[in-house]
Amino acid sequence: MSRVFNFSAGPAVLPEEVLKEAQAGMLDYDGTGMSVMEMSHRSKAFAGIIETAEADLRELMNIPSNYHVLFLQGGATQQFAAIPMNLMKNGVADYIVSGSWSKKAYKEAKLYGDARLIASSEDKNFSYVPDVDSLKFSDDADYVYICQNETIYGTKYPKLPSTGNIPLVSDVSSMFLSEPMNVSDYGIIYGGVQKNVGPAGVVIVIIRDDLIREDVNPQTPTIMRYITQSEAKSLSNTPPCWGIYICGLVFKWLKNMGGLDVMKQRNIDKAAILYDYLDSSKLFKGTADKDCRSLMNVPFITGSDELDALFVSEAKDHNIESIKGHRSVGGMRASIYNAMPKAGVEALVEFMESFEKAHA
Ligand SMILES: *Cc1c(COP(=O)(O)O)cnc(C)c1O
Repeated sequence: MSRVFNFSAGPAVLPEEVLKEAQAGMLDYDGTGMSVMEMSHRSKAFAGIIETAEADLRELMNIPSNYHVLFLQGGATQQFAAIPMNLMKNGVADYIVSGSWSKKAYKEAKLYGDARLIASSEDKNFSYVPDVDSLKFSDDADYVYICQNETIYGTKYPKLPSTGNIPLVSDVSSMFLSEPMNVSDYGIIYGGVQKNVGPAGVVIVIIRDDLIREDVNPQTPTIMRYITQSEAKSLSNTPPCWGIYICGLVFKWLKNMGGLDVMKQRNIDKAAILYDYLDSSKLFKGTADKDCRSLMNVPFITGSDELDALFVSEAKDHNIESIKGHRSVGGMRASIYNAMPKAGVEALVEFMESFEKAHA
């Protein structure tokens, strides 16, 4: 068996310890004589899994008791619709568009109400995050929406917008559990877990209890109403059991690593190896502005499509996988999530150095 350094943006690398533990319980989970994939979501064993997962997540993120944790399906993309359908009481929401994901969310919200584009960084191909201090929010906005870490363009908000009494809704898919967050600053924090937390198929929604309402858009499917899912404790229908189980193992792994403060420092150190090299390189260039660089997704280019393609193909000989950039930015992208070991980033930079020498 040999494992590669997997720089995929998602589904993405998971901790080896977690995969091994899942493997050990594959045929017989905890003396039940069956796999978690085979057990009823109403069983005692599964109740233990989802309750422990929620408790560990609450501990890791220090989630206050007036916030609900929902483990749902439909990916982050389904939340692009669920959020306006559930939250638009006045029918108005303010969107900051800093990349493809927030742009998609904004377009989706327009199907359900008056979604207003209050700032965008599209003028410079989303290489920066709009200045949040100069923003004017709509008086009647039901929420302000951001994507805090734009997976494709490699930017992260250096600072949150101060929205006052208007709830802030944040898509954190590609930075989930990469650093501590002050949950009380938000109305909703949500993310698909396949970037940094678990396998595809689960989206976690952390929502303040006053935003869980009965008087939602009447067209909202029952299953997409937050009230349905919070009352049923995410068991309104069959949840993504296996995915929730793996997320739970990742939460335990994070706790064993020392929690999110420790992860943040590790992520800063790991990203610095790559950014420091990019800043000194004459061949490679990071595409995101320095003051809003993501710790998780690092897009970079050589400036030549031929050299980019050659880099991607030669990378495979160095055990470096899925380093090709998203088509909208081109070049390369290294996603260096929690489970990417420091050795992986070092191997990447070593290869970049030798590639630069060869093509100087
Ligand atoms: C990947 C991604 C999504 C889409 O997630 P799905 O689970 O595929 O719907 C949304 N937002 C961000 C920031 C992402 O990185």
